[in-house]
Amino acid sequence: MCPLPWRRDYDPYSVWISEIMLQQTQMERGVKYFNAWLRTLPTIQSVAEASEETILSLWEGLGYYSRARNLQAAAKIIVDKYDSNFPAAYEAIRALPGIGEYTAGAIASIAFNQAVPAIDANVMRIFTRILDIDTPLAAKATKSRVKQRVGELLATTAPRLFNQALMELGALVCTKNPSCAQCPVNSSCLAFRRGIVAERPLPQQPKRYTYSELAAGIVFYNKRIYIQKRPPEGLWASLWEFPHISIASNMQPEQALARYLATIFNAKVKVREKIAVVKHGYTTNRVTLHGFMLDAAEKAQPAIPDNGVWIYPREAENYAFAAGYRKLLEKLGLKPSSTQSTMKT
Ligand code: SF4
Repeated sequence: MCPLPWRRDYDPYSVWISEIMLQQTQMERGVKYFNAWLRTLPTIQSVAEASEETILSLWEGLGYYSRARNLQAAAKIIVDKYDSNFPAAYEAIRALPGIGEYTAGAIASIAFNQAVPAIDANVMRIFTRILDIDTPLAAKATKSRVKQRVGELLATTAPRLFNQALMELGALVCTKNPSCAQCPVNSSCLAFRRGIVAERPLPQQPKRYTYSELAAGIVFYNKRIYIQKRPPEGLWASLWEFPHISIASNMQPEQALARYLATIFNAKVKVREKIAVVKHGYTTNRVTLHGFMLDAAEKAQPAIPDNGVWIYPREAENYAFAAGYRKLLEKLGLKPSSTQSTMKT
């Protein structure tokens, strides 16, 4: 198996952090985030006691920030209820915030070597092929057949190794375009033997996306830029952003943005230049963000909304930004590129 940092001693805290971080994140990037997290927060207690800003900064660029908040909420429960020791019982693990059926199974089997299935999309793909299941991937019957077969196999093997081997098989061999000739289980794979691997799993209904366009402004005044904090609840809660408006196809985005910003600051705002157009997605939403640099009038001191603050551009690295706004800062060289150190969100 690949030598990964949380496989050194299968410490439950490390396994838990790795499982949460690697959801929706490529392995190489996940390892970088994992190492930075463990350096700053080496124990469950340190997670429980960390500031929200520290938690969000360590998570910045990974997306799905509720995972980071749930990590801290769970850490507080573990400190209070389990004397800072990660609970070993599956039901207790499953009851922690942010831990679903798959993650609880992965932690129980990998950290505690318990015979509990950990079935994610990779495992579903592998077994719909091995068993040649001809019901749609999302159907209940498909999931229960896979679960039953995984349970049977788990009963006869070492759970920690079995579940990790499945994860690696799904990540490296039985991928979307599988390498069947190199597959160690091809002699047991019905879809392979029947020559219908390309037809398994049976596809789900295509997702429907909602598309929208926003114009966002990085406003300069007296060598500082304006940023504002999002509300403490809801999408990208408590992350930072630039002021923005929705735009329609018949609008000149820069003019509409300048007019809007003038109302926020109660001062004239002039467009300096367009920075970039960035795209980002969350759940079934796809957003195109047009970023502009603007200048607030020098003479009149701009008004500052309650949730806003003026900072020097170099200070932006100290704030955790929602995905699209972070990408604008990357274009300006004020944040490290997410293609080098983080996953796409
Ligand atoms: Fe997947 Fe091919 Fe192996 Fe079957 S033989 S499990 S389809 S990689």
